[in-house]
Amino acid sequence: MKPILTFSLLVLTISFSYTQTNNRSAQQKEIISKLSGHSPITKNTLLKDRHSNRARKVSAEYLKYKISFFCDKSEIINYKKRARNVTGSIMATSKTNQWIIIGAHFDSVKNSPGANDNATGVALVYAVAEYISTLEVRKYNLQIVFFDQEERRFKGSKAYAKQLLENKVNVVSVHTIDQLGWDEDGDRGIELEVPTDQIRDQYSKVAGEYNYTFPIQISDVTSTDHRSFRQLGFAATGITEEYKNGDTTPHYHRSTDTYETVNFAYLTTITEYVQKVFEDMMK
Ligand SMILES: [Zn+2]
Repeated sequence: MKPILTFSLLVLTISFSYTQTNNRSAQQKEIISKLSGHSPITKNTLLKDRHSNRARKVSAEYLKYKISFFCDKSEIINYKKRARNVTGSIMATSKTNQWIIIGAHFDSVKNSPGANDNATGVALVYAVAEYISTLEVRKYNLQIVFFDQEERRFKGSKAYAKQLLENKVNVVSVHTIDQLGWDEDGDRGIELEVPTDQIRDQYSKVAGEYNYTFPIQISDVTSTDHRSFRQLGFAATGITEEYKNGDTTPHYHRSTDTYETVNFAYLTTITEYVQKVFEDMMK
């Protein structure tokens, strides 16, 4: 290859991935901003929290709209009259009935803007799924789920997991994300909550391949959505900031869990990592 051509290809590649990273980060910021009431989610609505039925409904509609641009199908599924999950499907590139599931809860507790808990998880799921939709090869179907009512005894994920079981869906693994916006000690550490051996190996293999050196702790925390799946026999894990290890947000469930307190650089690093884990699973 002629040097000039090699050089322009290099510039092109760098600027493409730069644009991609920038766009992803802008999208994540928009999602966290709107969900946490840093900016209006609709023309006349600035959310104080995502606790009331109305706030959760508006959030669900916004999320369905956001993922409709890259999903083959996106839906709001009411499991009760006043509660609903948001789902999006991205089909494999050759026909299969096997699914990988990635999800995050979108509700918050009352009077907490829930920027870290859990607009960050929602933003990570969004970005990973959007990226997977651009791949030329996807071995599995990908299901995105934004769960309602995690803060009310995991009702959304319970309803969703029950549906999977009843419909005999062939599920390879389930990954739920909850809180990835706090890293006070700056080590970029994360925790995998009660992963199966296979899931744990998958995450450490990709960390090794890409020379990620941040600590990945294995924790026994089951107080979030992945428990709903494990209880019904699905292979599931949770991904979170260092919750058990103590480097977790001091704003948890408070009115101070705002857009301003989110560590976006940390969220970006972990989004890129989880994106690589999912890309590898799709090969
Ligand atoms: Zn949460």
